[in-house]
Amino acid sequence: MRLRNVPGSREAIAESEYTINEPELNKGKWKEIFGNDNPIRIEIGMGKGKFITTLAQQNPDINYIGIEKFSSVLIRAIEKMEELELTNLKFIRMDAEKIEDTFNKEEIDKIYLNFSDPWPKDRHAKRRLTSKEFFKRYDNILKKDGVVEFKTDNNDLFDFSLEQIPEAGWNIVEYTRDLHNNEKMNEGNIMTEYEERFSKMGNNINKLIANR
Ligand code: SAM
Repeated sequence: MRLRNVPGSREAIAESEYTINEPELNKGKWKEIFGNDNPIRIEIGMGKGKFITTLAQQNPDINYIGIEKFSSVLIRAIEKMEELELTNLKFIRMDAEKIEDTFNKEEIDKIYLNFSDPWPKDRHAKRRLTSKEFFKRYDNILKKDGVVEFKTDNNDLFDFSLEQIPEAGWNIVEYTRDLHNNEKMNEGNIMTEYEERFSKMGNNINKLIANR
């Protein structure tokens, strides 16, 4: 992703009512943040937030948390929220490596990973959000029947993920290498910013769903 430094974005994010600063202080208490017992779903690496914002608008009885490490893109999602004022969506600016410090065992219902950074060099494989190292982290925050959904146009990253996820002790429930032409898996699909861009270029979109 080409990232521009957006002056003042860090400060604006910290001051927004939609951002949770010091998220680790809420570990085990996320229901209190939302003020209800509704399920909590997260998107890791949400970018400008089109996907998770649309989901939150469509499903007011589900709570959503968007996680993004760069202020310069997160600020765009926050600006959108200032207009929409949804009560079931919050944002966290952090690196997902800290996810087990932020959520308790079984606190999360579903994890979305969309067009995650490929980290093409072998020595960076552990940084990929679908590496077995990350799936072990997801083990510690997801409900027993929780699922991970992953979409990407990067075929190498998808192949890597199909190998790594079972190595972490998870099952691939379903997958496709051509989401937009798979009637069943594409039903209700919400396109992300990257998905729109890459499918317009003619790239195939891969999707998998994993559980334990
Ligand atoms: N999900 C969006 C989409 O599909 O349009 C954005 C995709 S973009 C290629 C990947 C995003 O994930 C970037 O905004 C990047 O900063 C974020 N990201 C990558 N690794 C992350 C991590 N470890 N923790 C939090 N965010 C991360």
